[in-house]
Amino acid sequence: MGVKRITALVVSIGCVLWGIPETADARPPSSAPTWQLLATKREKFDRDVRAFADHLLKTQPYAAYRHAINIHKVNVISRDSGIDRPSLGLYRDTALDLTFDFEGVPNAVYAPVESEYKIYRAAALVPEADLIVVLANERDFGGSSGPLKNISVVTTHALGPELLHELGHSFAFLADESDGPSAPPLREPTKANVTLERTREGLRRVGKREYWIEETIPVPTPESYSGVGVFEGEFGVSRGVFRPARTCKMRTLGQPFCPVCLEQHVLRLYFYIRPIEAVSPPLAAIKAASGDTLVFRVIPLEPSPGTRQIEWFLNGLPLDHHDASLPLPVGTLSPGQHTITVVVTDRTPFVRRDPTGLLSSRVSWTLTR
Ligand SMILES: [Zn+2]
Repeated sequence: MGVKRITALVVSIGCVLWGIPETADARPPSSAPTWQLLATKREKFDRDVRAFADHLLKTQPYAAYRHAINIHKVNVISRDSGIDRPSLGLYRDTALDLTFDFEGVPNAVYAPVESEYKIYRAAALVPEADLIVVLANERDFGGSSGPLKNISVVTTHALGPELLHELGHSFAFLADESDGPSAPPLREPTKANVTLERTREGLRRVGKREYWIEETIPVPTPESYSGVGVFEGEFGVSRGVFRPARTCKMRTLGQPFCPVCLEQHVLRLYFYIRPIEAVSPPLAAIKAASGDTLVFRVIPLEPSPGTRQIEWFLNGLPLDHHDASLPLPVGTLSPGQHTITVVVTDRTPFVRRDPTGLLSSRVSWTLTR
């Protein structure tokens, strides 16, 4: 069983460097000033990626699962610095063709549809990447996400809370919790942090958030309340759509994620990782003599702080033993076939409902004495 970790890939663009290898007039850096420039930009990119990684791994719930997150970086060389801003007539020659004014929104940054393949081509250098983050070396604030494409794009002016907000879209499939003038959706949205339901019964029916709302919280919930509730206004809509909390990073960048958004992040993390990272001995049929003592071991994922629970079972009956290894004197078993099972469950307080059992893993060995 191999260890599966989440791999985030950071691609930078907008560095002023000599030559894009594919272009006809490309030439390698040769003069000292160019090398200095290259070094300066590379150092800046390294600093930017470190700043992003530090912020990501200090922010919950990523902080709790930081040991399961790998971050790779790929530097993509562009001829010009900055990115396009068509509304001001500014066009730059950059490797991924990133632009402000995406779909008419001034600070939305993305690649035009016909250039999106360039992001994937750069990302192909790290084929195991689960999530792609594109940093554009650009002074102005901007960013966007493709919710079903696992891509977030931000400018280097937006490396902190802004990028975490964008990952809320691209990684956790969350909606904006800010209100606005849009019309409410006609049907219940699929996103975990949006609902048209304004009663506990309605929330139960659509399987959203009801289990987070304390008995003392009125539903719908006035703005004066804290905790999880049914607060009107989000998804770009002022009336008839209800967000989970008064504040959340999906509404206000400087705030932490609300409990509903934290839960959704952790469920998405467990889409890629499992509570059991490895076991020994290998999962083959085991034959042992009565004088042997076998040691069964599990290497669990270790959230921080430790919220994982280990349970061992012999022939389906629970053992009073919760360590990562189980010594088993074979002489204590009757002759014949036996099953040893280990179950590892993450009891993180971030998740109250795990309908598909993502936070629990089970492994069984068959032993014949
Ligand atoms: Zn939220």
